[in-house]
Amino acid sequence: MNIRVGLGTDIHRLEEGRPCILGGIELPHPKGPRGHSDGDAVLHALTDAITGAAGLDDIGTLFPDDDPQWKDANSQELLREAVALAAAKRWHVVNVDVVINTEGPKIKPHRPAMRASIAKLLGIDADAVNVKGKTLEGLTELSEGRAVSVQAVCLLQRAL
Ligand code: MG
Repeated sequence: MNIRVGLGTDIHRLEEGRPCILGGIELPHPKGPRGHSDGDAVLHALTDAITGAAGLDDIGTLFPDDDPQWKDANSQELLREAVALAAAKRWHVVNVDVVINTEGPKIKPHRPAMRASIAKLLGIDADAVNVKGKTLEGLTELSEGRAVSVQAVCLLQRAL
């Protein structure tokens, strides 16, 4: 079997005055994800999807924030490292698909930039990276704009 699928999820509270960095780009929004470093929940979910598919540990185990090596590492570095660790096991990303649950920031106008940003980090075509925003229909705490929740899947292929 030379293909594998992986799933990653993440959730971050949104805080007033934090830069709103998701998918490696900054979105115009008065609140941004709380977390050490940039709090980029999209890249964190993708990192877990890739490491999951590659049979590696999860993001918190691989890159503990109390380890000086990763203390101030931004999410882009962690994702690149996950891709490198997977590649060391000969697993390469075929495509990824991401759902961002939020009622702010708006995702749709920024999809092309976000897809291009993620594609560049993964070293694949933007066509193989999909991203969409979904609202919560007023049903959860997320619908008050207090958090962003992300689900990501990826397909890996092993070079023969
Ligand atoms: Mg996170």
